Amino acid sequence: MLQPIRPVIRDGDLYLPGVDLWLDPANSRPTAFVSHAHADHIRSRHGSVLCTPQTAALVRLRIRKFRATTLAFHQPVQRKGYTIRLISAGHIFGSAQLVVESPHWRFVYTGDFKMTESLTCEPAEVVPADCLLMESTFAHARYSFPPVTDLRQRIVDFAAQTLAQSKTPVLLGYAIGKGPELVRILQLGGVPVVAGSEVMRAVHVYSRFGVPFDSVDTWWGRRPHAALVTTPHAWARTIRNREEWRVALATGWATDQPTFDSLQYDAMIPLSDHADWPGLWQYVEQAKPRETYVIHGQAWPFARALRAKGYEARALLTEDDQQP
Ligand SMILES: [Zn+2]
Repeated sequence: MLQPIRPVIRDGDLYLPGVDLWLDPANSRPTAFVSHAHADHIRSRHGSVLCTPQTAALVRLRIRKFRATTLAFHQPVQRKGYTIRLISAGHIFGSAQLVVESPHWRFVYTGDFKMTESLTCEPAEVVPADCLLMESTFAHARYSFPPVTDLRQRIVDFAAQTLAQSKTPVLLGYAIGKGPELVRILQLGGVPVVAGSEVMRAVHVYSRFGVPFDSVDTWWGRRPHAALVTTPHAWARTIRNREEWRVALATGWATDQPTFDSLQYDAMIPLSDHADWPGLWQYVEQAKPRETYVIHGQAWPFARALRAKGYEARALLTEDDQQP
């Protein structure tokens, strides 16, 4: 008889007993599921890794010899008597949720996810879950992002207006995820784009898997007659004279009070790759979990909010959450 899958914290990482699988572990583990290619989800060498082919290709941009067992979305595989499959998380290109099933029990781990549509990744899929393990990065009512179509227009307007002032617009975001998304938004808005080398490498991987981009030139440090999409790090290390540029940062944290850091940008645009407060609830209402475990960000308050609505819910703290 297969035991129902429920997550536990073991030595600081998320672990699924029964199917014997570690979830996005920070420490080196025998068998790890890696939900997506952001650097904070693949920091150690593992005995074997399960992820999507897109995630493996993106991780190889950083770790050349990265080896993984890849699983396309919806392709089932058996492990310890359980059926495992991956479904889209809608977070970034290749991001996956993990579904582990036995005859009378379905466990789902969302990884990072968002419910709004994207121009560069498949939308999140929601399946009914007996046991749900979900992230809660933006689990507070103050995080309710504007419609994504409005945000795209804001990005295109920012770039077009800056170019009209004979200045150069710069859109900053992570190389994987936000960067290629910004390139697509600008291209569809009719704005010429160049991209920093890290963003370009991601764009090439996306293109190989069929995401349609118009041609993009690589930025080599000169001021282009186009919008520039690059990472905050590459930008800070290259540009000294800020006069001729206007800089926007795309981040879900843009809805927070301005901080010393955020004041260095000319605009903050709350384009996020995570679910906002309504998105988190939308997910839960569709998945209808019998039991919910919450990780990251606002795990305690969100678990409490779920319980107040009649859900059985508790927060789990990983090693990362415990660090100051
Ligand atoms: Zn991520």
